[in-house]
Amino acid sequence: NAPLAQVDPEIAAVLDGELTRQRDTLEMIASENFVPAAVLEAQGSVLTNKYAEGYPGKRYYGGCEQVDIAENLAKDRARALFGAEHVNVQPHSGAQANAAVLHALIRPGDRILGLELAHGGHLTHGMKINFSGRLYDVAGYGVDPTTYRIDMEAVRKAALEHRPDVIIAGWSAYPRQLDFPAFREIADEVGAKLWVDMAHFAGLVAAGLHPSPVPHADVTSSTVHKTIGGPRSGFILTREEYAKKIDSAVFPGQQGGPLMHVVAAKAVAFKIAASEGFKERQERTVRGARIIADRLAQADVADAGISVLTGGTDVHLTLVDLRDSQLDGQQAEDLLHDAGITVNRNAVPFDPRPPRVTSGLRIGTPALATRGFGDAEFTEVADIIATALKDGATADVDALAARVAKLTADFPLYPNL
Ligand code: PLP
Repeated sequence: NAPLAQVDPEIAAVLDGELTRQRDTLEMIASENFVPAAVLEAQGSVLTNKYAEGYPGKRYYGGCEQVDIAENLAKDRARALFGAEHVNVQPHSGAQANAAVLHALIRPGDRILGLELAHGGHLTHGMKINFSGRLYDVAGYGVDPTTYRIDMEAVRKAALEHRPDVIIAGWSAYPRQLDFPAFREIADEVGAKLWVDMAHFAGLVAAGLHPSPVPHADVTSSTVHKTIGGPRSGFILTREEYAKKIDSAVFPGQQGGPLMHVVAAKAVAFKIAASEGFKERQERTVRGARIIADRLAQADVADAGISVLTGGTDVHLTLVDLRDSQLDGQQAEDLLHDAGITVNRNAVPFDPRPPRVTSGLRIGTPALATRGFGDAEFTEVADIIATALKDGATADVDALAARVAKLTADFPLYPNL
């Protein structure tokens, strides 16, 4: 029972180095967040030792009395939080939740219709070399080439043309809310099931800041680690009608033993997500994204050939279009990294550059809102980003890094670790 630093100093150094990196930089990857210490405690616990194949009360292993309590708490809390009839909290990740959704709803060879990967969709919505693209017949819809928004009339046309078995509503990079009743109507019109993947915006839904897909979708999947800010993992909400199918698609369909330490950490995250403090944090998240979008849409930035896709945001992220800028996505990501801001380059719809370079940036606010940032700090971050991007190769990186350092010092992260 020697401490990590003694057993494995190399990995201990990675943990130390990563804590320092998270403390000393501004985390703006839209899919990331900082879990509370309580989640770290549950996740880094003895529950990792326990095999618990099956479901509470119906396990294939003895000794599950404690983990049954944890899983039932996670389920009850998620059901209450999202107003769902049934929940499965066992998916190890968002991708595995999605594999289980398709496993439950359709058979290999059936057709799915989702947002194109290049327009903001996710790998599991039909990318060629992902399981979804290999097992299912994939059709896609894109965003409108002038507004960059999802045009529901175009979705309807695609659905009528392709007659999918499942329509997917959800995204990894899209700055606006989705029209779930319209998706429902289209699914009904073509006899498809509606699956909503709310991985990105689930925290906003929980806080009442984004319409809920749950009343409209046959199945809703999500991650827990993005806007919700819980442990890295997934969950699935569904109507009673699909409960059995979903449960057997997760186990034994896609997974063996659930990660009970993660399930317990999910329970903690769902409890926190029902609090007033969580709602207030999601409000700061969305306001922060708006502040960044507004700053990047100003004339001095526009003059450098930079624009904000759809002209703004309704959610926790902003998509920056660099197609007419001196910087490509990779260069912009590197420049902000040098200033101490972590973002990811991201293809924009109709991107002329390859996916490893791209012509866009995805900038998210959940992690900084969790760190405590409010309007004043997001205004300062927005100006640092705007200055870096418009100055490009001539940016005064040291001056920008000093402004970042002031913000990180003013908002200490994990002070007790
Ligand atoms: N679904 C969407 C919409 C996502 O954006 C992501 C993550 O990027 C996932 C699913 C997959 O989640 P994970 O990385 O946990 O497999």
